[in-house]
Amino acid sequence: MAKSESKDHSKQCWVVKIGSALLTDDGCGLRTEAISGWVGQMAQLRGRGFRFIIVSSGAIAEGRARLGWNISPVSLHEQQAAAAVGQMGLIQAYEAAFKEYGIHTAQILLTHDDIADRRRYLNARSTLRTLLELGVVPIINENDSVATDEIRLGDNDSLAGLAVNLAEADRLIILTDQEGLYDRDPRQYPQASLIRAGRAGDASLLGYAGTGGALGRGGMLTKLKAAETAAKSGADTIICSGLEVNVLLKIAGGEQTGTLLSVQHSPLAARKQWLAGHKRPAGSLVLDDGACRVLVERGKSLLAVGVVAVRGEFNRGEIVSCVARDGREIARGLVNYSADESRKIMGQPSTEIEQLLGYVDDAELIHRDNLVLL
Ligand code: GLU
Repeated sequence: MAKSESKDHSKQCWVVKIGSALLTDDGCGLRTEAISGWVGQMAQLRGRGFRFIIVSSGAIAEGRARLGWNISPVSLHEQQAAAAVGQMGLIQAYEAAFKEYGIHTAQILLTHDDIADRRRYLNARSTLRTLLELGVVPIINENDSVATDEIRLGDNDSLAGLAVNLAEADRLIILTDQEGLYDRDPRQYPQASLIRAGRAGDASLLGYAGTGGALGRGGMLTKLKAAETAAKSGADTIICSGLEVNVLLKIAGGEQTGTLLSVQHSPLAARKQWLAGHKRPAGSLVLDDGACRVLVERGKSLLAVGVVAVRGEFNRGEIVSCVARDGREIARGLVNYSADESRKIMGQPSTEIEQLLGYVDDAELIHRDNLVLL
């Protein structure tokens, strides 16, 4: 829980993943009361500054109930048809529940390709951030009705982990019908004990996840993988029971529940590792010798005054590389101004930004928290 303790709550963004088993009454449609319960908690926490993104399953299960199908759809096309029908009900249920509190919701349907393709990834990221800034609660599901086997993520745990990266959220909460991760299957072994805490990405935990039967063991393997993904952008994960009364309020209050999977490094280090791991920076900034020294020796932010050239096209928020005059890449970071804006302000002191652009978003071109030395 180190991250939330060190952070201002007004900036906390949580991705809450809610699984099918919690959302549906086995073939009898959606459990709207349960949805109202989680939504009520989120509405209360929003009043304290928290922001939420929901990753919700349940479309196929709800579609099955609406179509009167007693058995699970077997072919991919039947699942896609059920998802298309059920998604209507799912989104309506969230919309109605949030409306009680005067909160708007938005539907985002993603496939694996949307996240793999750089342009679509950035579009999705901008949309998500804009929705959060507008105070809207985005509700994400996989776009099951268009996803073929090759482009399916297949499970919403993975999608939730990726949503954390997209939004650079602070925490992933996976609500499930289990208490958390157990050392043995609690349905078979009453003595099984709950693992209270671990490190996200710790391979030794995978052994506890089991292979999963018809119901899975709460599908723990994909949840552990999602925690590993979330940790890449510095977020820790809690796997806990969505059936526990006021579970989200308890977590926000610092109570320990379920299994906490923490990032291995400090959130800042994890974030920097994630930045360094990005394969294709969108462009580059050529720095003068003074700026190179300030970055490397003094760990400072990059200011426009130290930039002598801007290469490529990029938008605010994209990853760019910082290169010395001889072409050596010395750092990478999330840039606060677009390529066009950077060209206008390069070589100038930060006090001139307003004069040059007509506005000033940030004094630094790249803040040191968003900068990793290579
Ligand atoms: N996207 C699927 C649905 O909404 C569920 C996938 C999952 O449960 O992980 O029905």
